[in-house]
Amino acid sequence: MVLPVQGRNTIRALLVPTQGTSQRYLSWWATEAANAERAVMTPIHSVPMTRRSVIAAASVTLAASAFQGFAWSASNTQENAQMDDPTTKYPKPPFQKQSQPFPGLAGRMVPKPDHGEASYKGSGRLAGRRALITGGDSGMGRAAAIAYAREGADVAINYLPDEEPDAREVIALIQKEGRRGISLPGDLRDAAFCEKLVEDAVAALGGLDILVNNAGRQQQAKSIEEITYEAFDATMKTNIYATFLLTRAALKHMQPGSVIIQTTSEQAYDPSENLVDYAMTKAAMMNFTKSMAKQLGPKGIRVNGVAPGPIWTPLQVSGGATMEKLEKFGGDTPMGRPGQPAELASIYVQLADPEASYATGQIYGAAGGGGQP
Ligand code: NAD
Ligand code: MG
Repeated sequence: MVLPVQGRNTIRALLVPTQGTSQRYLSWWATEAANAERAVMTPIHSVPMTRRSVIAAASVTLAASAFQGFAWSASNTQENAQMDDPTTKYPKPPFQKQSQPFPGLAGRMVPKPDHGEASYKGSGRLAGRRALITGGDSGMGRAAAIAYAREGADVAINYLPDEEPDAREVIALIQKEGRRGISLPGDLRDAAFCEKLVEDAVAALGGLDILVNNAGRQQQAKSIEEITYEAFDATMKTNIYATFLLTRAALKHMQPGSVIIQTTSEQAYDPSENLVDYAMTKAAMMNFTKSMAKQLGPKGIRVNGVAPGPIWTPLQVSGGATMEKLEKFGGDTPMGRPGQPAELASIYVQLADPEASYATGQIYGAAGGGGQP
């Protein structure tokens, strides 16, 4: 049966509901399937639907006035023409040569990444939640911060002091939604700072329900001999130690229903030869996600991860990728292009959404058709 969904990205979804499928579930499913955050179904039903009722409804679908299932208008059907083709939605390689000193600024990238500034629309999925996002100034962290605020959350972001220009833009966007946007700059390689960061976030937000361990250091090196002790240490401290320290500190404040989300990577599963130290940390974060989900499941705290593929962010142009790789960035994925942070925003929302209350210990991949999981 073809059901229309009306919203920013109108889709038609083929649904074969099983016995007892509720209208609420159908609505959720269609929303997620379409990745259309504002998707709205127009149900007439207020009672749970059954397979029989859907089939029965389909058989009389032309008699719309008598159809007790779903109603739609001709204009909605026309909106189908506006569906986005993901292969052409964003820039494709070749990209121009560019490089910035670590940690890099999104505002100086060409083309500028899309974090959903002009596109993400919320629908109250995280109303009243309080989130701390590391690396919230740019890339996936910024996309998550914008989306969380538009879903009704107050958001504190951490970043390095050099990233203040990017961070200011994010704070302004959060505040524009009428939410609290809190700047907490500082270096996550410092263990004492990690503890203080959580305490400061809790004080500013009045508590903490969502922790996104997203900050990351990625510096490519052709051979293991090129990775100095200091560089190795910085990668471990930023990616693994901070994840451990922030999680441990945050748990003191978290209630059942809280969530922890790691940004891991496809590198956790299929490491590149020139990302030896970085890939180790992403495997560790994936593994940490799964052990902590087991430990915290009984406490009602969910722990999940996101595993991006090649995404157009400052990390890649500030030492994360070779110039040769950058020029062709993402071209070897089935999509033929890199992902944009905006394309992952709804994943961070989904994992934090209380409706996803049975999802824990999971890693959600977003790699344009390649990569794992
Ligand atoms: P990004 O450069 O926008 O974000 C990384 C952030 O890490 C920076 O903004 C910075 O604020 C933070 N950071 C780094 N070192 C820090 C330190 N010592 N103290 C405090 N903050 C620090 O790039 P991104 O790609 O959005 O990265 C976000 C996460 O995504 C990282 O964990 C990265 O490993 C992961 N990831 C990225 C890709 C990709 O292709 N871009 C792919 C897979 C995973
Ligand atoms: Mg940044």
